[in-house]
Amino acid sequence: RLSKRLETVASFIPKGAVLADIGSDHAYLPCYACLHGCASKAIAGEVADGPFRLAQQQVEKSGLSHLISVRKGDGLSILAPGEADCITIAGMGGALIARILGDGKEKLAGVKRLILQPNIGAELVRRWLLDHGWELVAERILKEDGQIYEVLVAERGDARRPYRHLEAELLLGPFLRRENSEVFREKWKREIENWKRIIADLTAKGQSEAAERKKRELERKVQLVEEALL
Ligand code: SAM
Repeated sequence: RLSKRLETVASFIPKGAVLADIGSDHAYLPCYACLHGCASKAIAGEVADGPFRLAQQQVEKSGLSHLISVRKGDGLSILAPGEADCITIAGMGGALIARILGDGKEKLAGVKRLILQPNIGAELVRRWLLDHGWELVAERILKEDGQIYEVLVAERGDARRPYRHLEAELLLGPFLRRENSEVFREKWKREIENWKRIIADLTAKGQSEAAERKKRELERKVQLVEEALL
């Protein structure tokens, strides 16, 4: 069985897609996608030796070697342009996901859908999508084993379309903000508590310019999120 987190990612893979899963680790996601007919074939990319070998073993064990190509390398460098039409990148920080997409821009030719699951820093991923002509078409938020995860789905289009209040919605997610679910409220209440603690620390420490800037930035975020949770 796949985790609820990866199942949510998989639920957005268009039927028959040629999937590239970047940072695949055990290759659970491409194996599941091929076995359940979401993907017609897949490429699993891994930069690290151990996970790369685990991915190879899992694909072999699942009898999927004819459908899944396991490749070692950084980000999208393992793809030929036009090779995949759907890309998943899950379980990494938003900064790393944005870096991988930016470094591999020319490999996105022919890609119709990106399904991204940043563990932290989803804002950086939304910002990248907005700046590069990818329109968010769906978002999910879910809780599993006490952790809260966000899944972002994007296609080429009018990248501004989903946003009404850009600053707040880059942070919170335009769809998630409007949905305003229990899990969403829980996530952001936790964040506000964290930020308030940091603000109090910065206030106690006082006066450097960097600390003041950081404090103002966090106070702004608290304000935006509190407004969204009203
Ligand atoms: N995607 C799986 C999931 O969501 O369960 C695995 C997540 S795991 C925490 C992150 C994986 O990404 C690690 O196996 C790591 O080696 C791989 N990774 C990190 N940076 C990468 C990069 N630049 N290119 C390819 N893989 C990368």
